[in-house]
Amino acid sequence: MTDYPSALPETGRPAEQLLADITTGRGDDLDWKSGRAFSLVYNAADAELERVQHGVAELFLHDNALNPMAYPSLRAMEGSVIAMAADLFGTDARSGALTSGGTESIFCAVQVARDYAREVLGKPEPTILLPSTAHPAFDKAAKYLDIEVIRVAVGADGRADVAATAVAVDDRTAMIVGSTPCYPYGVIDDITGLAALAVDAGILCHVDACLGGWLLPFWEAIGEPVPPWTFAVEGVTSLSADIHKYGYGYKGASVVMYCNRSLLKFQFFSFDDWPGGFYGSATPAGTRPAPPIAGAWATLVNLGRDGLLAKAADVLAATKRFVAFVDATDGIEVLRRPEMSVVLFGATDPQNNAPLAAALHGQGWKVDVQQEGLHLMMSPGHLAVLPDFEAAIVSALASISSNGVPASPPAPQSGAGEPARYADRAI
Ligand SMILES: *Cc1c(COP(=O)(O)O)cnc(C)c1O
Repeated sequence: MTDYPSALPETGRPAEQLLADITTGRGDDLDWKSGRAFSLVYNAADAELERVQHGVAELFLHDNALNPMAYPSLRAMEGSVIAMAADLFGTDARSGALTSGGTESIFCAVQVARDYAREVLGKPEPTILLPSTAHPAFDKAAKYLDIEVIRVAVGADGRADVAATAVAVDDRTAMIVGSTPCYPYGVIDDITGLAALAVDAGILCHVDACLGGWLLPFWEAIGEPVPPWTFAVEGVTSLSADIHKYGYGYKGASVVMYCNRSLLKFQFFSFDDWPGGFYGSATPAGTRPAPPIAGAWATLVNLGRDGLLAKAADVLAATKRFVAFVDATDGIEVLRRPEMSVVLFGATDPQNNAPLAAALHGQGWKVDVQQEGLHLMMSPGHLAVLPDFEAAIVSALASISSNGVPASPPAPQSGAGEPARYADRAI
């Protein structure tokens, strides 16, 4: 057993012992490398990329991107990532910032919307309009920033209801949000329709592409239908896209992009009214860990367009295969037709959802449970394990008796037996 002291140990634990303890302690942690996890880690299944990432993380382990002038190489990498994103999403190469994740990107966009509303639109108490499927990061930002969020119920197709959103726009509205895709259903909001409302009202429109930003351009390039969602759509003013999801960077990297640099500038902070010299930053963090920045850059450059296209093809193949399996299997169904690689499926009898999830968890397959069903996201690493996963579902279904109770209780496993808990963990 690993000992986790509750106070600073009197004497330090030697390195070899400590590393062994840490490894032992990881025994019950999410085992994403096996391909049995369907959220939290986007498994690129790419040994060369893995080598690059370990190398770059080690090179920059102790460095601090707070002062980019001290690190010309980091500054160049950060600028290069932002320029690559700008090129992909159709805006100017300097109109964005690299953040620690989707939540921080969204925080920045909401802060910009608040300040733009106050300073430019003359709206002292701004609100933002979200589809009911939008990520909680918007509500979190609104809480910190003391503004109000209004959620509009999505339509029967699971997408933002443009007509209902139009009705909800009022004098206080500063920004309309759409997701590409939304996390819970995996469907893509009508960004053209939402952005047109924003143009009419003279307000901002944010596209939450945290999940899809680094996949949809390649999804489209391999021939899948993708509705317009980038800055190519008139009225889109900001966009968030996580590199640590389908950009396959390790954790701590996302971009928030704007339609122009003057909007980005609402994010900037500078201060010199203290004896410590000039202090300026573009994002909320002060001290900034360098490894995610260097890692994001190294990942995108190692993969390149052809690498991301190949990953997209694997993700597409896995998604198509799994959806076809669910469609062909009695007792389960796809609850929303996925427009990307996020699949919400469930038991035909909803009371079997929890036992199904518990049985899968018992066999080590970590699918998330939402209010309406089971949720998973396909990564390149899933293609190889899908036959096993499908067999596990078939046997789990067979083990569930008609009253919704597993015929034989699953072996105890962390997470098993309390699937409802997973509903509050949206990633
Ligand atoms: C993951 C996600 C977020 C939040 O990003 P974090 O990196 O978890 O902070 C926001 N929106 C969507 C659609 C997401 O999938």
